[in-house]
Amino acid sequence: MRSLQTEIEQRGARIFELVDRHPEPLFSKAGFYQRLMALSMRDERFKVQMFRFVDVLPSLRRSGDIVQHLDEYFTDMRNGLAPLVRTGVRAAKIVPWISGQLLRWNVSGMARQFIAGKNPDDVMNTLRKRHEQRIGFTVDLLGEAVVSEKETDEYATRCLELLEHLARETDGWSDPLDDGTELFPVVNLSVKISALYSQTNPADPADAIAHLAPKLRPILRRAKELGVFINFDMESFSHKNITLDLFKALFAESEFRDWPHAGIVIQAYLRDAEKDLVDLIDWGRARRTRFTVRLVKGAYWDYEKIKSTQNGWSIPVYLQKPESDANFEALSRVLLENESIVTAAFGSHNVRSIAHAQALGDELGIDRTRFEFQLLYGMAGPVKRALVEMGYRVREYCPVGELLPGMSYLVRRLLENTSNEGFLRAKFSDNVSEKILLRDPNGLVRESPNGAGNPDSVSKDRHLLDGASLDVPPGDVYENAPLVNFAYQQSQEEMRAALRQVRARLGKKYPLVIGGERVWIDRTTASLNPSAPDEIVGDVAAAGIPEAERAVKTARDAFAKWSRTPFEERARLLERAAAIMERRRYELSALEVFEVGKPWAEADSDIREAMDFCLFYAQQMRRIGRPRLTQHVPGEESYYHYWPRGVALVIAPWNFPIAILCGMATAALVTGNTVIMKPAEQSAVCGAMLMEIFEEAGVPPGVLNFLPGHGSVIGAHLVDHKDVDLIAFTGSREVGLKIWESAGITRPGQRELKRVVCEMGGKNAVIIDSDADLDEAIVDSIYSAFGYQGQKCSALSRLIVLEENYDRVLERLLSAAASLRVGNPEEPGMTVGPVIDKTAYERILNYIEIGKSEATLAFQHQNVPAKGYFIPPTIFVDVKPNMRIVREEIFGPVLSVLKARDLDEAVKIANGTDYALTAGFFSRSPANIERAKAEIEAGNVYINRSCTGAVVGRHPFGGFKMSGGGTKAGGEDYLLQFLLPRVVTENITRHGFAPEETPLYRDEFRVRG
Ligand SMILES: Cc1cc2nc3c(=O)[nH]c(=O)nc-3n(C[C@H](O)[C@H](O)[C@H](O)COP(=O)(O)OP(=O)(O)OC[C@H]3O[C@@H](n4cnc5c(N)ncnc54)[C@H](O)[C@@H]3O)c2cc1C
Repeated sequence: MRSLQTEIEQRGARIFELVDRHPEPLFSKAGFYQRLMALSMRDERFKVQMFRFVDVLPSLRRSGDIVQHLDEYFTDMRNGLAPLVRTGVRAAKIVPWISGQLLRWNVSGMARQFIAGKNPDDVMNTLRKRHEQRIGFTVDLLGEAVVSEKETDEYATRCLELLEHLARETDGWSDPLDDGTELFPVVNLSVKISALYSQTNPADPADAIAHLAPKLRPILRRAKELGVFINFDMESFSHKNITLDLFKALFAESEFRDWPHAGIVIQAYLRDAEKDLVDLIDWGRARRTRFTVRLVKGAYWDYEKIKSTQNGWSIPVYLQKPESDANFEALSRVLLENESIVTAAFGSHNVRSIAHAQALGDELGIDRTRFEFQLLYGMAGPVKRALVEMGYRVREYCPVGELLPGMSYLVRRLLENTSNEGFLRAKFSDNVSEKILLRDPNGLVRESPNGAGNPDSVSKDRHLLDGASLDVPPGDVYENAPLVNFAYQQSQEEMRAALRQVRARLGKKYPLVIGGERVWIDRTTASLNPSAPDEIVGDVAAAGIPEAERAVKTARDAFAKWSRTPFEERARLLERAAAIMERRRYELSALEVFEVGKPWAEADSDIREAMDFCLFYAQQMRRIGRPRLTQHVPGEESYYHYWPRGVALVIAPWNFPIAILCGMATAALVTGNTVIMKPAEQSAVCGAMLMEIFEEAGVPPGVLNFLPGHGSVIGAHLVDHKDVDLIAFTGSREVGLKIWESAGITRPGQRELKRVVCEMGGKNAVIIDSDADLDEAIVDSIYSAFGYQGQKCSALSRLIVLEENYDRVLERLLSAAASLRVGNPEEPGMTVGPVIDKTAYERILNYIEIGKSEATLAFQHQNVPAKGYFIPPTIFVDVKPNMRIVREEIFGPVLSVLKARDLDEAVKIANGTDYALTAGFFSRSPANIERAKAEIEAGNVYINRSCTGAVVGRHPFGGFKMSGGGTKAGGEDYLLQFLLPRVVTENITRHGFAPEETPLYRDEFRVRG
């Protein structure tokens, strides 16, 4: 018997032979497209620019805009192509009307290569041709990313219409192989599950399924009546479990249990694909009805890798191409060995993968008409023909839709076709030999020290750098703590368990901690759950003046020793605290859900930020802790180094109850100051937890003191205190300005000029340019404005839209806001929870009334719980820059939308505020993006992404004007605010003799003995 490899090679050779009989270049459409692709494969930078240009083109309405963008994208290219491109652009500029149209026509042609028809009628022409060629079809409706339930309803309606249309138009068509229609109905529809529910939250699969199932049932019912096959396509990893669970739930329902014409996709590039497939097969056997699995490698490889790396998640996809190929083959075997219950559809253009499935099918004695090969429209035409000639069943995946909504699909195909790793490029463009193309992928997987392509071994090297290295970006000297990935069931379960556990201890009492001693006093403040204000989260001691005095004295006394403690010891304290937070992570998040109404992911990212502050500041201290030579000069050495300032008073807000408190306190601690930590009254239990963590981490008595209390009672007293040297404050402008002023007065007996680190509010603007990608702009604007109820100082409150886009933006924005889930954040899928307390509730409602009197109320959410401090997300239009709702900080889920004539006016409006904290800009014009980067007045300017969610080390955070004193939390120079620089110079010459070398760094100055 011949080996499987020999069989594969034989079949592969046969396919290649047939393919070569009808030679066709990779890009079957000659001319423009072929030339662009060839250039893209030669030059990576050209490829990036080209894909970006293709991406923006459909949204450009005027020819002049098209040529303008062409110019911006390509003229400053510095490579071999530059002269060619420049000539083209110059020519285009001469007659923009013609060249604009020409470009649009060419790119549309390019899209038509992958999009089988503009609409159901149009696609029938393609399907008829394929039918004659004995190729079946599955049709997929292209659409914009859905941002609202209105849009999901439209998608569901279009699916139903398409279904009817296809069934009607193919009436009487026979099976291409004249056999097996009971397994392979003629009409086959591929459905994008994400397009049927706009609020899918990976943390809440039950909610997603509850919304998706009712949308799908009518489609399935009608498909069943019409004899149509329905396939659930698979999208990004975060949707995977939901799609699998939904499939299993729906097709187990009595109505659909006996229906065999349902299929789902398994992506072989996922590490857990085999487990998912085996689970599906077990499910199918219990159901006792056939179903289909389309096996593919997966279309979101780059996205999964980028997203996971950004969030610190383990990467769910294989990192080596042969690993995906080998897994595809392993899964092919699982499928074919279970042919009695599951029909296999192999979705690949790779001749090796295809030949493997064929050879294995024969080895297992499976008739070739009982499985099929599926290939994409516009790709690998000769392979399709070859398979048909060999008597295999072939189905083509045919996307239908307009160019604009089809753009992301088109870009994915372009990426795939030009990928260095891809089979199609290797065979049809790079002419790689058959022998190489048919190699066994298992033999090609490279071993790495931590196992093949281990996701956790990626990009760690840069973090092994020691903290003192100066030639790397400051954010690279440590590794950000990962976010919890709530797409995993285990994370969901741990969070639910933590919520139960924290709920059980609500109402506990918490003391002050001064000098390491727990101080119980009668005066307490109840911290309430804003979702249920009759629920006490904790009763926290409220310090008075005597306790404040005691805390200052204790901190002062502790300073002598702590300030002389080696910085390495102080840095380790922070790292131990981070490790404890990691251990107690879910518990701390759960507490935030109860105490400040944070949705799950928001709470988790607060804890992540706190850990990041600890780790980042520890590393930063190592960078600056050692005295550093100022200049090489013979005979003398001067070392620059820092001393701590003294006693630091840390006053924190409730909106990032652990992160900000922790960030300011750790910056003070690691630099050698002693600290009095005053949390906000509304989040004092979170503060108590942080204190507990530092005690467990081993903070010496008196170095960190926990002093909750009312700002009006102890705040002013401490700020004015002669023995407080430094105040780190984050909070309202009103209080911040008072502190700033008061700290400027020198009190009798005061040793130091007080340093104030002051971060206040914002009135943040986002501009949407006329060529912006609205799928992104709407989703990110909604999240920036209403995530955590608009109670982040970075939150969006002024959305400035260029006139040309205004109506379209508004329409989608309002329906997206109407789709938001508002409710108790104990439920995992809530985006909008309650505002912090009664005062905030009343203040925000008052602003809404002001808004109604000044502007036009365009939207107010209808579905808001009656109990708790829930404010309906609200949007105003017809807003003018001088109105109060545009000038004053509201700190709640209220958004004003302003119309701007052009970018000049938009930037003027954005900058026309007292504040300068965050800002955003959505655009695909490189020139406009550069302008926004240069001109927008904000401490943090975000392009084409949300304006909230700063990450420590990556986005050092803080503003200027009335937003703050220009300091950057989580930035490389933040610790300097907590330090006093000092220079020590020594004449090292003795009788004209001096050492030749002076070290760049030296040990800390210490008293010997
Ligand atoms: C009919 C059909 C339907 C499809 N439906 C879906 C779907 O619903 N969902 C979906 O996600 N995909 C789907 N795909 C798959 C996807 O769109 C690509 O076409 C497919 O992944 C390309 O694989 P290939 O075997 O043709 O080519 P190959 O060139 O052999 O493989 C390319 C693939 O290998 C993987 N890869 C590339 N680089 C690496 C690397 N460094 N490490 C590990 N893996 C790597 C990627 O998945 C990449 O797409 C479908 C494909 C077809 C043909």
